[in-house]
Amino acid sequence: MFDYLITGAGFAGCVLAERIATQLDKRVLIVEKRNHIGGNAYDYYDENGILIHKYGPHIFHTNARRLWDYIGNFTRWEMYQHNVAASIEGKEIPLPFNLNSISKLFPQRFAEKLEDLLIGQYGYGAKIPILTLQNQTSGDLKFLADFIYKNVFYGYTAKQWGVEPDQIDASVTARVPVFVSRDNRYFQDEWQGIPSGGYTRMFERMINHRNIQILLNADYRSVLELIPFNKIIYTGPIDAYFDYMHGELPYRSLRFELETAEAEYVLPCGTVNYPNDYALTRRTEFKRLTGQKHAKTTIAAEYPEPYRRGENEPYYPIPQPKNAELYRKYELEAEKIAGSTHFVGRLANYRYYNMDQVIAKALTVFEKDICGK
Ligand code: FAD
Ligand code: UDP
Repeated sequence: MFDYLITGAGFAGCVLAERIATQLDKRVLIVEKRNHIGGNAYDYYDENGILIHKYGPHIFHTNARRLWDYIGNFTRWEMYQHNVAASIEGKEIPLPFNLNSISKLFPQRFAEKLEDLLIGQYGYGAKIPILTLQNQTSGDLKFLADFIYKNVFYGYTAKQWGVEPDQIDASVTARVPVFVSRDNRYFQDEWQGIPSGGYTRMFERMINHRNIQILLNADYRSVLELIPFNKIIYTGPIDAYFDYMHGELPYRSLRFELETAEAEYVLPCGTVNYPNDYALTRRTEFKRLTGQKHAKTTIAAEYPEPYRRGENEPYYPIPQPKNAELYRKYELEAEKIAGSTHFVGRLANYRYYNMDQVIAKALTVFEKDICGK
């Protein structure tokens, strides 16, 4: 008899399993349909011995000390600050778009003028979503806003989401604001890093407990009648849980192409984005993230594609008002069974969560809904 049946062994499922097992001394069964733990943060060593993030590059970053400390119970860290370049007009410029990007793109006198205007209007250190910068109605800042939108955001967003960029919620491009600064780091969070030895090792330590059992290669539905349990924690797609009774929630998927080169490094930094050229959006060199030393190197190219249920993975909920409305219908269904079933995670809450946000959500569900604090 298990106290909890947890569907999914990603961050949401593993954090909750760990809390329930260690803090409540209750028994947990995690059922995972893939052949591994870690969810989309899973990593593995390929045939050359290079550490690969199977479902795309993952950099841990957070401003919440308690989340950093919590995850630090299960791993040591490779200190890593992510750098991204965007390939624009044959040049590689730093992202988020910042004062250094301006210097690289424009003649010196004009670049200095743009910098002065930006600092004068917004202040050094300001972060301005591109759609806010576009509120400029005239002058050089209007030119700059249009230039950035056209060259950095338009093509990338259209490729990534498969729709015209104005159809996507403004919060999406606001994840990468224009930064009035000379700080080239992609994230400015206080705590950033990559688990030493990889995410998978970290997850193994997290769920290594006598109260936790894990069943891989199994859909949770296949065990519902076979294994007795008290409550469910569900971290898969919420529409699937309810048999798509209100219709399918849209997701965006990706195809990853891996390429290994006989060179120590190939890219100038962790990731290069291609907003305007090619069908891919970005290429990432894993060794730059993980700090691994190796004579060869592996690069992942990301090709966005439509989600086709049963064929590829539902990587991204699509932030659009009509999808939020549809999700709300499922959320109401979830509320009806809240006493016996908890929905937690990027797919179960249909939110564009980063890893730290999923951990925060799982800890809150544990404290409020499970412990009743
Ligand atoms: P998941 O990791 O998706 O885990 C859910 C699990 O449930 C899956 O393993 C799935 O197989 C399983 N499951 C689903 N249905 C069933 C079922 N019926 N039966 C059994 N098992 C089931 N975040 C960052 O903070 N930094 C990054 O750099 C970053 N990079 C990313 C890059 C990409 C390409 C993507 C797609 C995401 C990235 N993220 C990043 C986000 C991060 O992956 C998520 O926030 C996090 O992994 C979500 O954890 P989760 O537990 O909610 O879901
Ligand atoms: N974005 C863009 N150009 C870039 C990088 C990002 O237009 O070069 C926009 C795009 O809409 C993307 C969003 O910003 O979907 C968020 O980017 P982020 O790097 O956070 O995406 P993720 O890593 O989650 O795929």
